[in-house]
Amino acid sequence: MTRVVVLGAGFAGLAAADALRAGGAEVTVLEARERVGGRVWSVPFGDGAVVERGAEFILPGYEVMEELAARFGIALVRKGTPYGRRVPTGEEAVTQAELEAAFARVAAAAADAASAGAAIAAAELEPRLATLLRTRVAISNGHPVDDLEASVLAESASTFGDFENWTLAGGNMRLAEALATELGAAVHLGAAARRVRWSPDGVSVATDVGEVEAEAAVIAVPTLPLAAIEFDPPLAGATAEALRVVRCGQNSKLFVRLRSPAPPSAIMSVAGHYWSYTQLGAGGEPAPFVVGYTGTREAIEALGGSEDPERWLAALRAHRTDLDLDPDPAAALLSSWHDDPWVGGAYSARSLSAPIRDAELAQPIGPLHFAGEHTAGAWHGLMEGALRSGRRAAAQVLGRGAG
Ligand SMILES: Cc1cc2nc3c(=O)[nH]c(=O)nc-3n(C[C@H](O)[C@H](O)[C@H](O)COP(=O)(O)OP(=O)(O)OC[C@H]3O[C@@H](n4cnc5c(N)ncnc54)[C@H](O)[C@@H]3O)c2cc1C
Repeated sequence: MTRVVVLGAGFAGLAAADALRAGGAEVTVLEARERVGGRVWSVPFGDGAVVERGAEFILPGYEVMEELAARFGIALVRKGTPYGRRVPTGEEAVTQAELEAAFARVAAAAADAASAGAAIAAAELEPRLATLLRTRVAISNGHPVDDLEASVLAESASTFGDFENWTLAGGNMRLAEALATELGAAVHLGAAARRVRWSPDGVSVATDVGEVEAEAAVIAVPTLPLAAIEFDPPLAGATAEALRVVRCGQNSKLFVRLRSPAPPSAIMSVAGHYWSYTQLGAGGEPAPFVVGYTGTREAIEALGGSEDPERWLAALRAHRTDLDLDPDPAAALLSSWHDDPWVGGAYSARSLSAPIRDAELAQPIGPLHFAGEHTAGAWHGLMEGALRSGRRAAAQVLGRGAG
C-alpha cells in the first residue's frame, strides 16, 4: 500500500486525502492549526446564526463541492444575495441597466487589453461608471486593478448578472469536518510541517511532535507558509519558481448583527471601497446580520486595519441606513487574513507582475505533489478549485504508484 503524507487540512488537503484513501493509499494528514478547514471557517454569531469568516459563496459550477455535500447529507442553503448585481445607492447610485451596459463594453474590450484596468479604460465609460467597475474588480480580487490580468473580468467573482449562490447549512466548514471525521486518526492537528526531506524514493516530514515517513507527499499549504518550510534538498525548477511568485490578494470582512433581519441585498460603497450584503438563513428567512467585504491592502488599512472595527462600522452605519444595525460593539466581528500566519492573505490573484503559472503549479517535483486553490487553474481562488486541486494531486500520486 502506498503511504502518502498530506500537508494541510484545508479543502485541498482533505479532498486529496479522501481521494487517496479511496484509491487504496495509507494517508497521514498534518495540519498546523487546531482545526480543519483552513480558509473555510464558520463561526456562531448570535441567535443560532453562523457566519463565514472566510469562504462563503458556492457559485454555479461547484460540482465537486455539491457532490461532497450530498455524500455527507449536508444541505445547500440558497442565500438569495444578488451577488452579480451589486449596485451603489444614494449619491453614488447607478441603474442596473447602466451597469449592465458598462460590463458589456468592458467585456468586449478585455480581449485586447493588457490589464483589467486597461480594459475598463478602453471601454471609455463615464468616469463614475469606470470608477465603480475598477472598485468592484479590485475588491473581488483583493488586488489593484491595474496589476490584474484582463481575464479576471470573465471570472465569476467579477462578472455582472443574475446567478444563484448558496452556502452549506450550518456553515461551509461542516464539509471539512465531515471529511476529517471520516479520515479519523489519520488527521493530526497542531502538527505544522517544519522540514521536508525528500528523494526520488520517498519523503520524511518533520513536525514539532515527530516525523512522518511516506513514499509521496501532497503539499496543500498556501505559498506563504510553504516558503517557511525547509526543504532538503531545496525545491528548484519551474514548479518551485511558480510557487515562489504566487501573489495573494487581501480581503477582510465585517459582520454586524441586525436588530431586525433584512431581506437579501447587495450594495456597493464605491467611496468606502467595500460592498455589503444581507442574505437568507437556512429556513429561507432573512438572516439577522449584514456582511461588509473589502479588498486590497490599501482599502483594508483605510477602513481601520485588522484590529479595530470602529472605523468600518461607522462607515457601514452611515451607508446602510436601510438596515437596523445592533449598536452593541460586541455585535460586530472583524475577520482578516493577511495577518494569519498559516495563509498570509485571502486567495491567489492573477497579478500581471507575478502571473499565476497554472501549468507549472500542477507539476510535481519528484515525490512532492502540489495542491491548493493557487494550483487550480481556472478555478483558482475558490473552494471548488481547492477541492479539484486536491483530487488532481491525488490522481497524480496514485498514477505514480501504479507506474
Ligand atoms: C475572506 C475570504 C473570502 C472568500 N470567499 C470565497 C467564496 O465566497 N467562495 C469561494 O469559493 N472561495 C472563497 N474564498 C477562497 C477559499 O477560502 C479558498 O480558495 C480555499 O478555502 C482554499 O483552500 P486550500 O485548501 O487551498 O487552502 P487553505 O484553506 O488555506 O488550507 C491550507 C491549510 O494548510 C495549513 N497549513 C499551512 N501551513 C502549514 C504547515 N507548515 N504544516 C501543516 N499545515 C499547514 C493551514 O493551516 C490550512 O488549514 C475566500 C477566502 C477568503 C480568505
